[in-house]
Amino acid sequence: NNETYLARQAEFESNVRSYPRKLPLAIAQANGVWITDVENNQYLDCLAGAGTLALGHNHPDVLQSIQNVITSGLPLHTLDLTTPLKDQFSEYLLSLLPGQGKEYCLQFTGPSGADAVEAALKLAKKVTGRSGIISFSGGYHGMTHGALSVTGNLSPKEAVDGMMPEVQFMPYPHLYRCPLGIGGEAGVKALTYYFENLINDVESGVRKPAAVILEAVQGEGGVNPAPKEWLQRIRKVTKEHGILLIIDEVQAGFCRTGKLFAFEHAGIEPDIIVMSKAVGGGLPLAVLGIKKEFDAWSPGHHTGTFRGNQLAMATGLTTLKHLTENKIADKVAAQGEWLKGKLAELQKRYPVIGQVRGLGLMIGIEIVKPNEAKDHMGCYPADAELSALLQKNCFKAGLILERGGRNGVVLRLLPSLLITNDELAIFLDKFEQALLAAGI
Ligand code: PMP
Repeated sequence: NNETYLARQAEFESNVRSYPRKLPLAIAQANGVWITDVENNQYLDCLAGAGTLALGHNHPDVLQSIQNVITSGLPLHTLDLTTPLKDQFSEYLLSLLPGQGKEYCLQFTGPSGADAVEAALKLAKKVTGRSGIISFSGGYHGMTHGALSVTGNLSPKEAVDGMMPEVQFMPYPHLYRCPLGIGGEAGVKALTYYFENLINDVESGVRKPAAVILEAVQGEGGVNPAPKEWLQRIRKVTKEHGILLIIDEVQAGFCRTGKLFAFEHAGIEPDIIVMSKAVGGGLPLAVLGIKKEFDAWSPGHHTGTFRGNQLAMATGLTTLKHLTENKIADKVAAQGEWLKGKLAELQKRYPVIGQVRGLGLMIGIEIVKPNEAKDHMGCYPADAELSALLQKNCFKAGLILERGGRNGVVLRLLPSLLITNDELAIFLDKFEQALLAAGI
């Protein structure tokens, strides 16, 4: 049973570090949005491998694509050498980027999101000859030294000293806790002021950076979509000042927000697009889209052993084709609006729901203390304890959700993009059960 596996895991813990025991189950099987544990309990999975499984668990086309590679005789691992499959995957992915292959080139990096972020940061430094990076509060970019250095969250950084120097953090728009300031008109003007007057000004102490890195919708930071005017202004000022704009689409990319890429909501084009998670259809793969004018690598300057995973290219290609050929972005956009409407109805009955936000099937529910005084921004204090309890109650009700944001106050939904309306109704039902079980 689950207990046996969890006890064994605890026993291994001194040898095998594992995911915190927030979700105490041992998984036996999974299919679509459903996970079955070793005791035959079923869970509606609204985490989907941290947003990686765009088509859900064990989609038959994805499994078939693995089978096809295995029976074709292709090598599983090819370093960075060419195969017909790599060629097909690259061509298809390029056709999805702005300019359909004319504006961007691809670079396969090591297999994780953090690997791709590292490559993006290095490339921006090489292109500009500068070393500073501007990043944002609440941003998440991964756990390697460079990616962690530009992550706007102090708690994972407490483990070690010696982060990359010359990273400046600016505040990211938070449409609930700071509705008008950062992402509003004044915030957008302040951005211009900052870039025009402070950068490289002897008295401001702010050096001109190589790049700005951001997520168009922050995921781990608590599902914060940036207003489009704010993104457009960042695009404008970075372009005017020769600073590269790196957009991390690791979580928000590939139809998650109701558009193929989250930056499309603002109608902008990054200089470097960071892609991982869904791009590999569930298997490890990461790749950069680089505006051709910034493709400054020389041979040997950025390599890595695991850049030729044929299985991941097969599952990635199948996933990308499925998403685009079936217009999944439109479906996801419509479902996101429907779900936010339903959650807004729930919010009226359960004022512990402070705000429901997000785009498409990347939705966050911020949990608050509605019986305490509002702060000067008109928000109730966040309730991290209740948010943790609700995650547990959801689990007991057979629903897997993740938390994010400051102290984990935001319950996050990142389900398979193929989730049906009936399954979303089950989500709502289970979520309400979790609220009731908390005595709310
Ligand atoms: N960027 C973003 C936006 C992410 O959400 C994540 C992972 N959650 C990463 C980078 C890092 O990816 P990985 O864990 O594969 O290194």
